[in-house]
Amino acid sequence: MSDTARITLIRGGTVWTGGAAPRVQRADVVIADGVIAAIEPNYQGRWDTEIDAGGCLVAPGLVNAHVHPGATARARGVAEDLEINPDAAFYHNLGGLLRFGLEELTRDEFGALLAWDAAEMLLGGATTLIAEMIVAEEHGMHLQWLDVAKQLGFRAQLGLTYPNRVGAIGSMQGGKIVKGDPGDVAGAFAAALRLHETHNGGLDGRLRVHLSPHGPDTVPEEILRATKQECAARGIHAHLHLAQHLSEVRTVQARHGTSPVRYLHDIGFLGPDVMATHVTYVDEADIALLAASGTHVVHCSYRKAKEAITSPFQEFLAAGVNVAIATDSFSHDLILDLKLACLLGKIRGGKVGQPTAQQALVAATHGAARALGRPDLGRLEPGARGDVMVVSLQSPFVAPVFDPVRALVYYGSASDIRHTLVDGEAVVRNGKLAGLDLDALRPQVEAACARLWELAQSRGVLPGGVSFDPICCGAH
Ligand SMILES: [Zn+2]
Repeated sequence: MSDTARITLIRGGTVWTGGAAPRVQRADVVIADGVIAAIEPNYQGRWDTEIDAGGCLVAPGLVNAHVHPGATARARGVAEDLEINPDAAFYHNLGGLLRFGLEELTRDEFGALLAWDAAEMLLGGATTLIAEMIVAEEHGMHLQWLDVAKQLGFRAQLGLTYPNRVGAIGSMQGGKIVKGDPGDVAGAFAAALRLHETHNGGLDGRLRVHLSPHGPDTVPEEILRATKQECAARGIHAHLHLAQHLSEVRTVQARHGTSPVRYLHDIGFLGPDVMATHVTYVDEADIALLAASGTHVVHCSYRKAKEAITSPFQEFLAAGVNVAIATDSFSHDLILDLKLACLLGKIRGGKVGQPTAQQALVAATHGAARALGRPDLGRLEPGARGDVMVVSLQSPFVAPVFDPVRALVYYGSASDIRHTLVDGEAVVRNGKLAGLDLDALRPQVEAACARLWELAQSRGVLPGGVSFDPICCGAH
């Protein structure tokens, strides 16, 4: 540690180290110039910033491993209690509204929604956000997201999804899933490659760019193959949706005569450079292929529970598949997702003892870091990045603490997050965002959504069976 290093000291907490073999100890965490320098009891050296972690769990910052920024606020509360077509996913009921929003929202309105999304993700304990943006390059909304990352200081992973039209992934019309024109998918792929060339390593090293083919049913085979080649050539990973809904399963079965997982295996796509989100509809043979190939799975409990189903979690862990955790869209409370991963996993498997709170927390930290190929994330050890969350375990909902990890996962909530740090710098301090005035932003978000919902209603774009009453919205 140099004499001039900028030192952040997190004092007096219960440290859960994360990593492959987590330990719990009472210690101070010392971060020097963004990197963890020491974890030791009663640190006596100098410091520039001190954070009191008394009564708190100190753990690696969470990784929210799959989100679609800008989609959440304008879809919230619209379609949760609508039945869905058995072949569809939750978002199919919202496809028309999501597409309409991209067309109608102004740049400032969209920027407000992006910042609101990020606020929710960060206040929920995440320090790294892995974003898949289904937007055309020329609209520039992905660059607005990077402006938010710069303003708020989080660690960002970003992929431009191809195809880049929301309509191409489908929406409900007359009780059927209708997929629109995917447009120039090769052109969208080229734009995703350009983003890697121009932005990877940006934001003072906090930004990494990956490739984001939407899924095996929406991306032509030659572009999946080209994606894999580019990943190898560039040393980056690909992130896609896989076995997400029955429409995808049926489409791949009809085209290729096999399951989505086996199809990707057959074209040589699976591997340790691939993160596959949801992976809901799989059999034992599919799970074995994912395990043997080293493919990483991103598990999204809350999003799937909205479809009255669960994805495998314990099954993947038992087979040796590395798993990360994400909120996907429409809610970004990662502590809730940890809770649901455990509780719904117990219901799914019929075993109270599995999965455990520790397995869920490891997935949301070390599991994600493994998937990203980032041994410097997901653990609190000297040499790792100073990405940390400090969570109070003192509320009446949580205390007293018998086991800090079970306390957090089964009894904690996002409101218990006191501080998060990225490279040793506070992103959330005392439960508030360091880089954003939420009270000033909220009216902008409410006004943008109220305008969009009223317009969508007048144009007949809201999902069938729902209507919007402006009196319910905070903007009126
Ligand atoms: Zn998604």
